[in-house]
Amino acid sequence: MSRYSWLSLLRHGAGQPWARQWRDAAPKAAYDVVIVGAGGHGLATAYYLAKEHGVRNVAVLDKGWLGGGNTGRNTTIIRSNYLQPESAALYDHALRLWETLSREINYNVMYSARGVLMLAHTHHDVQVFKRHVHANRLQGIDNEWLTPAQAAAFCPGLDISDRVRFPILGAALQRRGGVARHDAVAWGYARAASALGVDIIQNCAVTGILRDAAGVVSAVETTCGPIATSRVGVAAAGHTSVIMAMAGLRLPLESFPLQAFVSEPVKPVLPCVVMSNTVHAYISQSDKGELVFGAGTDAYTSYSQAGGLHVAGETLQAVLELFPAFRRLRLLRNWGGIVDTTPDRSPIIGLTPVPGLYVNCGWGTGGFKATPGSGHVFAATIATGVPHRLAAPFALERFVTGRLIDEAAAAAVAH
Ligand SMILES: Cc1cc2nc3c(=O)[nH]c(=O)nc-3n(C[C@H](O)[C@H](O)[C@H](O)COP(=O)(O)OP(=O)(O)OC[C@H]3O[C@@H](n4cnc5c(N)ncnc54)[C@H](O)[C@@H]3O)c2cc1C
Repeated sequence: MSRYSWLSLLRHGAGQPWARQWRDAAPKAAYDVVIVGAGGHGLATAYYLAKEHGVRNVAVLDKGWLGGGNTGRNTTIIRSNYLQPESAALYDHALRLWETLSREINYNVMYSARGVLMLAHTHHDVQVFKRHVHANRLQGIDNEWLTPAQAAAFCPGLDISDRVRFPILGAALQRRGGVARHDAVAWGYARAASALGVDIIQNCAVTGILRDAAGVVSAVETTCGPIATSRVGVAAAGHTSVIMAMAGLRLPLESFPLQAFVSEPVKPVLPCVVMSNTVHAYISQSDKGELVFGAGTDAYTSYSQAGGLHVAGETLQAVLELFPAFRRLRLLRNWGGIVDTTPDRSPIIGLTPVPGLYVNCGWGTGGFKATPGSGHVFAATIATGVPHRLAAPFALERFVTGRLIDEAAAAAVAH
């Protein structure tokens, strides 16, 4: 793999053609590890398996195209100011990896630490966010409380008057939070993993999980034929339940559509990321200039990659209350993804009752920010057969023991 650098840019500018970013691999008969799902989490897992654990005989299978699931559909908000210590540790591990990811994989993922502002509109919001600020400080994670005037100074254009339905009473700010380019994350991990020998196989759906006489995983059936393996890592987001059912497992997951929108591109108007739980919207501006808006999940479970029109209407109404000036913008497009949510709104990472079958799911509406950390701890778990220290609290058993990691009520808009 040629390294991207100023020098290579000059060389290619002078006419040398660019090489393909990753090999278009044909499936082999057997692999040491098969990862199901070429989203950010699956690709990051494969990369860290190869890079940090020397496990290079790895295939990443996707039923569609690489990054075509939630990874390429999300609003890219990154932050680590979660309430519970287990979550804060995991998401901050990811945030630290984001800070050096472009260099690590030699690919510009456009991580931009422009600050994530979480608005408080009620006394309850104020109490909850101040609790987050204090908890995060004890955890060594940056998070600070701003008055409405300080919030408006940080994020010009924000309406802090009391003429709106839900006046802004203050905000929590994580300055290290921000956004990254979602496609670049998938492409960058794919390129780096492929260079280390990982086979990425697109348009190849897993249709079955086979087990030997002892009940241990022995192969996956796919639309490209059977592939023998003793370790399968599932990172299939909204389709996790479907795949786990192939191994006879039922997980505490529900899949919902979640949608987002972009406006026409405009000059820089929004220098930070803004989230509001009460009016329910989250918004940032992409480097192309489009304003990116995210909505809440539909009220009903579904596998449709769309979302209810009324949800879109309510979100846009909420955004316009926060930023009246955006009334004049036109929407360019909208889309949906399928997010898998757990009862405590925390992910499930680790082993399953089926030996050789590992799962990484339940990231719901907020797993993009975790991509590097999730892949990193999942790779260690698959490589060693023992949950990584940061993944251990997120084991499936917590739904039996009752040791939940409750981010459901604790989170603002959970992105
Ligand atoms: C509209 C929207 C906004 C969001 N906003 C944010 C945000 O701002 N911040 C944030 O942190 N998170 C956000 N999220 C959540 C985030 O996108 C996800 O948690 C994260 O991208 C999940 O990544 P993944 O790699 O696990 O899944 P995905 O990227 O969905 O990848 C799973 C892959 O599995 C493949 N697959 C499924 N079934 C099979 C099969 N049978 N065989 C082979 N392959 C299969 C799919 O094709 C897919 O490519 C948002 C999500 C949506 C939809």
